[in-house]
Amino acid sequence: MAIQNRDVKLLWGKAAGRCSICRIPLVSSTGDSEVPSNVIVGEMAHIVGEKHSTNSPRGISKLPEENRNDYANLILLCPNDHTIIDKDENEWPVERLHVIKREHELWVEEQLGSKLDEKTRIYDDFIDRVALTFELEHWEYLCDNLFRQIMPVDFPDGVYQLGFEHFRAIMPGKEPDFETALEALIVHSRVYVDHYLSEAKMTPGDPRIMARRRYRDDTDEDFLKHQALVDVHNKWERNCTMLLFNCVHALNLFADEVRKKLRPNFFIRQGKFCVHDFMGLMGASMVETWHLPERYFTKEDLDGPLRESGDTNTE
Ligand SMILES: [Zn+2]
Repeated sequence: MAIQNRDVKLLWGKAAGRCSICRIPLVSSTGDSEVPSNVIVGEMAHIVGEKHSTNSPRGISKLPEENRNDYANLILLCPNDHTIIDKDENEWPVERLHVIKREHELWVEEQLGSKLDEKTRIYDDFIDRVALTFELEHWEYLCDNLFRQIMPVDFPDGVYQLGFEHFRAIMPGKEPDFETALEALIVHSRVYVDHYLSEAKMTPGDPRIMARRRYRDDTDEDFLKHQALVDVHNKWERNCTMLLFNCVHALNLFADEVRKKLRPNFFIRQGKFCVHDFMGLMGASMVETWHLPERYFTKEDLDGPLRESGDTNTE
């Protein structure tokens, strides 16, 4: 299915006929003033590739092919930049292109002096930051790793940076429910990351932060001491899961608020963010499951004793 007329108009209009990266005009007039001739050099590039194929740059995605020619998945570029982004997918991933597109469209609005509401602008900034920090374009991949205690090294930085910017930001109070949801998400993600890092370790050159598992280095013959280390690990692991669920719950409440008034289509195709338990670890069913958190785990849940299972006896 070709790109529909409506999507073409939206894309060209919002980008003001300029390349979203280098901003050169994509319509140039040549010829003399009597007989002007317009040359159109702009290209409507696909953010997620047009086909679900490795031959299509950024083509492997859950976005259905019938949606790939929509305005939402297109970015207006000059031929030069189009070639550049398609040559190096790692350098130009999907989320980066979305940010570039959005920033370009905002730039256009500002240039035209439209009364862009600065108050809403800060909301937009935070919504984009959340999408980047939580890699919402690839949510299942990130969440699946976090669920298995494999945290990418740049994730904590993103979470802390988001918290720091939020701390400094002067929030306008125009959408109190949105602001509350944003704050809750930031708090829950910081609590989760703090907890995760408390018993995790980084290895130089490894892009993952993994569990410390101190009991494995324990060479003493002291059984009680060894058991205590095992308990520390097990409780850490269980609470990682609970706190991750709290993050995901906060993320869904945040996304609901974003959709209510600010961006009705915010990850609408993705829908609710779930915890994808690929290996069926929870409940030990060993069956692939999706969990949708419906409440926050409380301090009592986190302080609670570990359930007795196998050789792990805490009491
Ligand atoms: Zn360009």
